[in-house]
Amino acid sequence: MCEHQNFTANVSVGRLAADESGEKIVGFSADIAVKCLDCGVPFEFIGLPMGYSPTQPMCSVDGTEARMPLKPRGEAMSLEGLAGFSIRKVV
Ligand SMILES: [Zn+2]
Repeated sequence: MCEHQNFTANVSVGRLAADESGEKIVGFSADIAVKCLDCGVPFEFIGLPMGYSPTQPMCSVDGTEARMPLKPRGEAMSLEGLAGFSIRKVV
């Protein structure tokens, strides 16, 4: 049984465009995934709602990718035209 002592993390930072043309950047998002380096098991983030939002951290449906909105320090982001979605688990 793996004791999960070593990790690898993948962070991809994306630019969020207001429309399909991608010309107007209105936000940024860091998508973070963590795996055990020894056994390869992906880690699930705890306490984040599922979905995507430009204004609050959320995670992928399987919980293995945290989606963290961010912005350059000192700059205001408009978030204009950005829409998110959330997924509610029905048990
Ligand atoms: Zn492991």
